[in-house]
Amino acid sequence: MREGIIVKALSGFYTVQTEEGLIVCRARGKLRLDGTSPLVGDRVVCAQDHDGSGRIDRVLERKNWFVRPAVANIDALVFVAANTNPITDPFLIDRVSVIAADAGCELILCVNKTDLDSAENLCRIYRKAGFSVIPTSAETGEGIDDLRQLLRGKVCAFTGNSGVGKSSILNRLVPGAALPTAQVSEKLGRGKHTTRHVELFQLDENSYAADTPGFASFEIELMKPIPKEQLQFDFPEFAPDIGSCLFQDCSHRKEPGCAVRGSVEAGRISESRYRSYLRLYDQSAQLKDWERKEKNT
Ligand code: GDP
Ligand code: ZN
Repeated sequence: MREGIIVKALSGFYTVQTEEGLIVCRARGKLRLDGTSPLVGDRVVCAQDHDGSGRIDRVLERKNWFVRPAVANIDALVFVAANTNPITDPFLIDRVSVIAADAGCELILCVNKTDLDSAENLCRIYRKAGFSVIPTSAETGEGIDDLRQLLRGKVCAFTGNSGVGKSSILNRLVPGAALPTAQVSEKLGRGKHTTRHVELFQLDENSYAADTPGFASFEIELMKPIPKEQLQFDFPEFAPDIGSCLFQDCSHRKEPGCAVRGSVEAGRISESRYRSYLRLYDQSAQLKDWERKEKNT
């Protein structure tokens, strides 16, 4: 019996990275019967026969999992943003930060294209909210080592609007990145696949990045909305104020004596983050019960 992590899944075959190397496995029949079909990112117990064929016996408990792409146990979502060509709307970052918080992943903000625009405003907002913010330039290499350091020992996935530099940063992170870009792209499998599958790409001995050829990134639109009462807990900078509002069930919108709003007025919480909270709250409140159920299934 060995433990490992599924790095690739294709037509019922799972490639498992173990300490002794890669083993291609099928899932034991019982796994499929009880509905736990393995996902890329799953930690599994597997065995290898004399003929080299492998079998997954057990899927260990998941920390989290996503539907599109179908991937489990993401430790960190890396949101790549830029303040020029294209300009990232902070609301998009806030939506992803809420999804990350809800799934128990760390959010890392990578502010890219700093050779063109230092994006100080974005850095300020998200540092203040308590996130790790790494200014990077895939062009000059600035910040790439800091990012690599921060990803050590983690399984991460990249997201962010198209054109911000996700592929360029991934290419920089890949070991031996002195390869010409085209070759690295081939290695990453970009541009060749039309099917929507996900693979874990090894960054170093125990760090992985989920690479999703065929996806722009995580499909945020399709992710389940967060119930409005839950949202406040997914804004980590609200935490010191929760419980200090005049009303116990304060929604932090218009109620008198709201401690969260007090912190916004005092400048401890960024207005832009607070505006996103209000917008997400309204979006969630507008969902009918049946829509909520549908999206959650
Ligand atoms: P993706 O859609 O997020 O994967 O973005 P790409 O990695 O394909 O990058 C989009 C464009 O931006 C490409 O032309 C890159 O060369 C360029 N680019 C990416 N990162 C940087 C950067 O840090 N600085 C500059 N000046 N250009 C960049
Ligand atoms: Zn309040």
